[in-house]
Amino acid sequence: MGHGIRIARIFGIDIDLHPSWFIILILIVWSLATNVFPASYAWSTDTYWSVAVVAALMLFLSVLVHELAHSLIAQAQGIKVKSITLFLLGGVSSIEQDASSPGREALMAAAGPFTSLVIGAALWGLGVALHAHEVVSATLLYLGGLNILLAGFNLLPGFPLDGGRVLRAILWARWRDFDRATRGAARVGHVFGYLLIGAGFLLAASYRDTFGGIWLAFIGWVLVQASQASGAQAKLRHDLAGLTVGDIMSAPAAMVPPNITLAAAADRYFVPFGARCLPVDGGNDEFDGLVCIGDLKRASPEQMEHDRVKDVMLPRSDVVTIEPERPATEAVQLMAKKQVNVLAVVKFGRLIGTVDRTAALRSIDRSG
Ligand SMILES: [Zn+2]
Repeated sequence: MGHGIRIARIFGIDIDLHPSWFIILILIVWSLATNVFPASYAWSTDTYWSVAVVAALMLFLSVLVHELAHSLIAQAQGIKVKSITLFLLGGVSSIEQDASSPGREALMAAAGPFTSLVIGAALWGLGVALHAHEVVSATLLYLGGLNILLAGFNLLPGFPLDGGRVLRAILWARWRDFDRATRGAARVGHVFGYLLIGAGFLLAASYRDTFGGIWLAFIGWVLVQASQASGAQAKLRHDLAGLTVGDIMSAPAAMVPPNITLAAAADRYFVPFGARCLPVDGGNDEFDGLVCIGDLKRASPEQMEHDRVKDVMLPRSDVVTIEPERPATEAVQLMAKKQVNVLAVVKFGRLIGTVDRTAALRSIDRSG
């Protein structure tokens, strides 16, 4: 997923296009112009291609409006939405936090499919009313049907689809445990993902709709991946619940001098102390930065002999700090948000320990 090409900013939300969008756009236009419309209508070649381009672009607008519906409800609940990344048949809203109650979560999730359903019904109705103008009517009916399909697909009760979010809200209200509800809805998402893959192969094999079949199987595969990732994330949050940063941090065994080589740091500090991350001595009992075993592992044998600790350390100005009383989950979130592998645990302005990603995961194993 990730970032794409920024095309607009609507209601303070950045709209990005995923690079795959262009390939899929070409595939859809080609499929509409050479297969879908010629199967039902006798038009000129020019008409097939122009209608195909217009229909594909309107499909894109439909997906955008669907995503905007989620985002506007989120914003109305005071949740910040950073960006929307659009794929042709779907979008991903980068919403910074989860809703504060099951009711609000369900509302936010249902807003997208509801909007698609309304658009679908309106376009379909318009298509029927304008049946005298065959080209216009055919385009509207096709888009109306696709919007209804979009609503139906997104309502499948597997997380992270919209229907899965509604399911999570229901489970959340019942169990009063957000992470358990996420894992439950993600498991259903996993099952639906495999069902879609199976249906895709069946479609390709028995109805000879190779394009549609591969497409469906691909969507299923994306759903399997996404549900797996969300389930794992929820499990991590659950396992860390109740632990504080102080519980999972390690106290620094020594301060590493800034001017020794990486090889010397490994021999004299990391190996003897079995340390993962150590502060770098800045004089006066202050630390100048943090150096981790990962920084040494990335170095070539030559760099190990020549580079000095201060060349590879995370400098103090870039070090992200956290207090020992904070929940351990916050440390994991902070590392992900700031894209660092280590945090300095600081109390009354003094460094009392470090937390790194691997150590955090290891302490979960111990506590579990
Ligand atoms: Zn949606």
